Amino acid sequence: MNKDLFRHNLLQWHQQIDRNLPWKASKSPYFIWLSEIMLQQTRIAQATPYYLKFVEAFPTVHDLANASEEKVFKLWEGLGYYSRARNLHATAKKVSQEMNGVFPDNYKDLLALKGIGPYTAAAIASFAYDLPHPVVDGNVFRVLSRVFKIEEAIDSTEGKKIIQAMAEACFEPKQAAAYNQAIMDFGAMVCTPKNVGCEHCEMQSFCGAYHGKMVDILPKKTKKIKKRDRYFLFVIIEDQDGCFLIEKRTKKDIWQGLFQFPLIENEQAFEDTKAIKKALRQNFNLKQKDFDWLYLTDTFKQTLSHQYIHARFLKIKMKKVPLSNDSQLLINLKELKNYGFPKIIDWFLKEKVLNLVFIP
Ligand code: SF4
Repeated sequence: MNKDLFRHNLLQWHQQIDRNLPWKASKSPYFIWLSEIMLQQTRIAQATPYYLKFVEAFPTVHDLANASEEKVFKLWEGLGYYSRARNLHATAKKVSQEMNGVFPDNYKDLLALKGIGPYTAAAIASFAYDLPHPVVDGNVFRVLSRVFKIEEAIDSTEGKKIIQAMAEACFEPKQAAAYNQAIMDFGAMVCTPKNVGCEHCEMQSFCGAYHGKMVDILPKKTKKIKKRDRYFLFVIIEDQDGCFLIEKRTKKDIWQGLFQFPLIENEQAFEDTKAIKKALRQNFNLKQKDFDWLYLTDTFKQTLSHQYIHARFLKIKMKKVPLSNDSQLLINLKELKNYGFPKIIDWFLKEKVLNLVFIP
């Protein structure tokens, strides 16, 4: 009974709101796919300028496929979760080269593409082709667990099963696109993680969490993500011509595919100059006579989903900077803007003047 009421109220609520987002008017699977990949774990306000930049730079999937990896990463810079950019580029190449630029028109084949999981496949299938696949993501988990007072942890096998079954039972297959858009918007605008909009909510009269005073504790989770601390020292090496050494991150780790200044990672914080000199000797075989010390910054901190990054930046000057592998290159200051860097390096490049601590 309440499932019918939920569906009815949801669709009615959605007809009254006008959420003017740049990808909404489109039925193009390419634009829908772009927007859905960008919106994964990302707020709409943050993703929108990136979407507009990509659409302008790559109006078709062929344009994206033919772009260099550097250009794709540069445009993605700051959006985080960089494996999305890698998968995006790989899928664009596949669709462009093997599918004649046409995205699959069914759920199963969409799901087979890199970077497309069940949620994104359901979103593209319903928004582009009106196929009856309900979207189930964090928004949907939150809304359904609250409205139907589902107390099983949403990260447990049982909890996932219950919510999936509920999502299918509430779904309106005859209005797949409208229903999916409505539940996503409802989760983003009304039944939000914080500052929940219960007071003016269409579901209030029958919402289990609201009447059970459980809005703040639903949805439940069993696992708490334990974040680890990582301590980085980025070494900015400038040569006598004013060029800097940068290198591409090629290992399977955070920021793969982006560029950085040569990096030393340590188990503990880089607190004193003695530890830094030792690290330079051990990691880069650099002795103090080989270079001039310029400056060392305070610590910059960045919180990622599973890690806390603590980074300091050391700048040194050498007559000649040898390249030690294919991923390294020497560039001048103007060329820095052509390469995609992790956010923490971007912060440094913008704010370095404020944080200088000179090494004695
Ligand atoms: S009443 Fe509150 S908790 Fe229930 S659906 Fe509405 S916003 Fe969510």
